[in-house]
Amino acid sequence: MSINILWDQQAPRGIELPVARMIEMILGRETRLLEHPFLIDGYNRDRDQHDAQKILDRLQDTFTRRYSINGPLLLVTSRDLYVTGCDFVFGLARSASSVAVVSTARLGNEYYGRRPDDADLIDRTAKEGAHELGHLLGLGHCDNPECVMFRPRTLDELDRKRKMLCPACKEALDS
Ligand SMILES: [Zn+2]
Ligand SMILES: [Zn+2]
Repeated sequence: MSINILWDQQAPRGIELPVARMIEMILGRETRLLEHPFLIDGYNRDRDQHDAQKILDRLQDTFTRRYSINGPLLLVTSRDLYVTGCDFVFGLARSASSVAVVSTARLGNEYYGRRPDDADLIDRTAKEGAHELGHLLGLGHCDNPECVMFRPRTLDELDRKRKMLCPACKEALDS
C-alpha cells in the first residue's frame, strides 16, 4: 500500500518530488503525491498558530472520504503548528486513523536567521515527514539520536538525525 502525501498549496513549491523520494528511501515504501485542495482548520488568533489536532480532524473526517484515500496520509503544510501544552510541534500523527501532518514553518534556515537553502529544507521535511509516517506504520519514538524516529526538540537535534531508520526501527517496520 503506497503512502499518500498531500502538499498544501501554500507549502514551499518545487521540493515536493525530492521530499517524496527521500521519504521513500527512508521508509522503503512507495509514495504518491496528491494535489487536491484542502482547507486548513484550527487557526488560533492569540497564538498565530494552527491547532494540529483540528487539521487532523478534517483530514480524517472529510478529506479521506471525499477522495477515497486508502493508506497512510501525510499533509505537508507551511502553517506553524501547536498542540495543547506545547509551544510548537514539527508535526503530529494519529495512528488510529492513519493521518499525519508536518509543518515546514520551522524547518527553513530563514526561520533561524540563517541563509535559506533548499537542500536543508528538503532534508528536514523528509526526515520529519518520514517520522510522522513511521508512527502511522506502527513505530514509536526511538532513543537513538541519529534515528528518524528520535523526537527532536530543537533544529540541531533534528539536523543530527540521519536520513534513515536505525537497525531496530527498520526491523520493527519490516516485521
Ligand atoms: Zn513522533
Ligand atoms: Zn530507531
